[in-house]
Amino acid sequence: MVWHFAAIKRHNCIMSKFENSYPSSWYVASSPILAEQPAARGEMSFDVCVVGGGYAGLSCALHLAKTGKSVAVLEAERVGWGASGRNGGHVGTGQRADQHSLEKWYGKPTARELWRMGLDAVDLVSDLIKEHEIDCELGKTNIHFAAKKSHVNELRNEVDHLRTEYGYDLIRGVESSSLEELTSGKGFHYGVVDHGARHLHPLKYCLGLAKATMAAGASVFETSRVKNIVTRNDHAVVSTDKATIRAHKVVLTCNGYLGNLFPPIASNIMPINNFIVATEPLDEATARRVNPLNASLSDSLFVINYWKLSADRRLIFGGGETYSDKFPDSIRDFVRPKLLAIYPELSDTRLDYGWGGTLAITRNRMPDLGLHKGVVYYAQGFSGHGVPTATMAGKLIASAIDSASDDFDLMSGLRTLKFPGGPLLRRPSLVAGMLFYSLRDRLGQ
Ligand SMILES: Cc1cc2nc3c(=O)[nH]c(=O)nc-3n(C[C@H](O)[C@H](O)[C@H](O)COP(=O)(O)OP(=O)(O)OC[C@H]3O[C@@H](n4cnc5c(N)ncnc54)[C@H](O)[C@@H]3O)c2cc1C
Repeated sequence: MVWHFAAIKRHNCIMSKFENSYPSSWYVASSPILAEQPAARGEMSFDVCVVGGGYAGLSCALHLAKTGKSVAVLEAERVGWGASGRNGGHVGTGQRADQHSLEKWYGKPTARELWRMGLDAVDLVSDLIKEHEIDCELGKTNIHFAAKKSHVNELRNEVDHLRTEYGYDLIRGVESSSLEELTSGKGFHYGVVDHGARHLHPLKYCLGLAKATMAAGASVFETSRVKNIVTRNDHAVVSTDKATIRAHKVVLTCNGYLGNLFPPIASNIMPINNFIVATEPLDEATARRVNPLNASLSDSLFVINYWKLSADRRLIFGGGETYSDKFPDSIRDFVRPKLLAIYPELSDTRLDYGWGGTLAITRNRMPDLGLHKGVVYYAQGFSGHGVPTATMAGKLIASAIDSASDDFDLMSGLRTLKFPGGPLLRRPSLVAGMLFYSLRDRLGQ
């Protein structure tokens, strides 16, 4: 998988104008980019060495630093350079998999715990934003639309199930006759309004976490790509080109950018690319028609479309995936048809930005947390639901390192299936499967 990571990096360099070494996006253009932190150099020792400076790594380092542990974060590029600085900013409740599926896979008691942890994760994001005064445009409510008639019953059942079995009354279903109250978007058959969900500016949130992490005493090193990790009985040695770091525990949070760094966990996940555009600012009336509740919105297609408004009324619209090492030549041309299928009224609206990012999925879309040989913790595979769950995973690992965490034990005890086929065959079999489902998106009702 090294080729994959290298190719993505090379591609990002070619396709994007780098601003302060971040690939160009609306988020970079609208964020207070932090001063670059120095690269790690020489020989150092820490209690914990975190690899990866996204939500998972920063949340872990922040929570560890608060307990007084000495912590280093090694980030290959800049903090928030990965998916955490590029995503749709939706902070959804629950897990990426629905409760019916979780009950079937794990039994009702565990499914209930997972639901509770999903709500805790949304609260954690809100609490961190409040505690550290992170200005990241936090808003509330998500609306999820049935994009096919055949999806309506499933969504309706899930709403009923959450209300009756889980006592979750922040969610309600909206029938097709009333959907105009929720959006002027076309092609929907039912809507699920979840007032417990949140949304935010993802890069501002990530940079806020990074600032809080440094203020709590953690050392953050940027442009410090980890090349090698050697585990011993009670510690590990982590190497970059310029530094060797000895730590009692290592925490791996590289997610879709893991590549071949740590083969024991590589086949638990599959990296996929997803793409977003930002329109020019919409006039007030159009913005109100498109999104009257100023919620985050998404649909039920396998290759999900998701969108929200920025503070200056741009439509931030995500849609479309690729499964190879390549990004489309023009991300705007790639995403535009998906946007116009829902909002034909925006056919003359300019797309000012287009960007992509790489995330990691697992086979059942549940996060993959664990501990390897008592020394290397890892969290990855948040499967498009990582704003809350990666933040939570970082906290759970910090608790597990500090003392013990029942919730970490529960998450790491979930059965995860490896992607079949080993490093060379994994990708072709995934691509075949994903293309099959994305083709189904385009067929019938
Ligand atoms: C386009 C897009 C839209 C998305 N939309 C949403 C959404 O709306 N809501 C939601 O909940 N989730 C969404 N996601 C998923 C979400 O962004 C991720 O689940 C989450 O950001 C994962 O955080 P992370 O910290 O695990 O990984 P990342 O943020 O990807 O961070 C990993 C970091 O590790 C670094 N790294 C990798 N290898 C090394 C190395 N060898 N040495 C040092 N550092 C290394 C990388 O440079 C990177 O910065 C989306 C993802 C994408 C790509």
